[in-house]
Amino acid sequence: TYQGMSKERMLEIRKMNCNGMTMKVTYYKEPLFIHRGFMQWLWDVDGSRYLDMFAGVATVSLGHCNPKVMKAAQKQLLHLWHTSAIYVYPQIQEYAEKLVSHLPEPLKVVYLTNSGSEANDLALLMARLHTGNFDAITLRGSYHGGSPLMMGLTSNTAYKYPVPSSLGCCNTMCPDVFRGPWGGSHCRDSPVQTLRECSCTPGQCQANDKYIEQLKEVFATSVPNRIAAFFGEPLQGVGGAVQYPKNFLKEAYKLVREKGGLCIADEVQTGFGRTGSHYWGFQTHNVLPDIVTMAKGIANGFPMGAVVTSKEIARTFAEGLHFNTYGGNPLACSIASSVLDTIKEDKLQENCAVVGTHLLKELAKLRDKYEIVGDVRGKGLHIGMEMVKDKASLAPLPPGDMAEILEDIKDMGVLIGKGGIYGQTFRIQPPMCITKDDANFTLAVFDQALQNYMERR
Ligand code: PMP
Repeated sequence: TYQGMSKERMLEIRKMNCNGMTMKVTYYKEPLFIHRGFMQWLWDVDGSRYLDMFAGVATVSLGHCNPKVMKAAQKQLLHLWHTSAIYVYPQIQEYAEKLVSHLPEPLKVVYLTNSGSEANDLALLMARLHTGNFDAITLRGSYHGGSPLMMGLTSNTAYKYPVPSSLGCCNTMCPDVFRGPWGGSHCRDSPVQTLRECSCTPGQCQANDKYIEQLKEVFATSVPNRIAAFFGEPLQGVGGAVQYPKNFLKEAYKLVREKGGLCIADEVQTGFGRTGSHYWGFQTHNVLPDIVTMAKGIANGFPMGAVVTSKEIARTFAEGLHFNTYGGNPLACSIASSVLDTIKEDKLQENCAVVGTHLLKELAKLRDKYEIVGDVRGKGLHIGMEMVKDKASLAPLPPGDMAEILEDIKDMGVLIGKGGIYGQTFRIQPPMCITKDDANFTLAVFDQALQNYMERR
């Protein structure tokens, strides 16, 4: 029991009264009953400790109950929790100024929301108003949110309902150089290359050209001659850390702009230093978006999202009255502000680069050792390990087998995530404060779980 309630009763209530009679969202056959967290650690109600390598879906980026963030929250709680942006209060100015100091010109105007879906909704609305166009394009496998508007853009069937949510939304082939029809060993920017052979010549990536052709085909078949926006995650999250050929986003942005569209970078999972080499994922592609959206790690798990754009786009949007009750309240801003400070003070971006690269290189050794590991990829602490039946067919490892391995990894004390359109990719997106020892423990657990699976098979 926990505080007088049995586990059975908790599950019963969860099934009957939470999220509509489904346990689909819980990952494990033996569910985890979590009640406490500190930094990269979580404890269940029986006192067992887990290394959290998924951070509540890349959200608790600075660690659970991070003392610095907690202190900022506590301090603000004693003064003022909420007031509306109809008043001027110091926290929102302080935060906006600090946030834009991390962004290049002309991305200097901030709108604060409460979630990533809300941020993306707002970004799409802005793009439609600013361009006078309606259609939006994204990449297959992408996740941009669960609101009716974003359900249309999110290109993963698992998150779709049969309602007319997709007006004006379409997608193009995901330039996935591992699972897609074209790709190769040097096509993407990762410390670890794919096992697929590369037919490219230096400076000219054939895979990139082919995926760009696909986007041109979408322009020729699925939208009018002008569009409002192109949405792209710099590195897919829910899609399973899918990385694109090196020049893909740069060329896609150019084509989108030729069609009158704005380029929107969804940094909900990739922002705030997680990729290690850069503060924002778009910088790893050497592009400059017109609008950037953020959430998750922005406030270390406190509900918050943001849209940042240029003065010019903001001016069009100012024609109407945009209002958000909670967006940018003093508590959220104080927390988010301490997140920015802590990333800098504790050198967390640098830590992502060092520990992430170590993890990637060591995971690649497991890929070479096991027939069922097809691909290891990512940047910094945004990592995917795509599982296959065998390396000859590259067929996705079935969900039941994935679940078995995931459960085994959990039973050995490590929590990771799952993604990919077939649920075939393990995801490692831990708090950015993990150490090399944590990485090595994770590697040992992975090795054991894969060995256990191969022995059972
Ligand atoms: N964009 C991306 C890239 C995401 O991963 C998510 C959440 N998984 C969202 C948007 C939506 O964020 P939220 O759940 O806060 O609405």
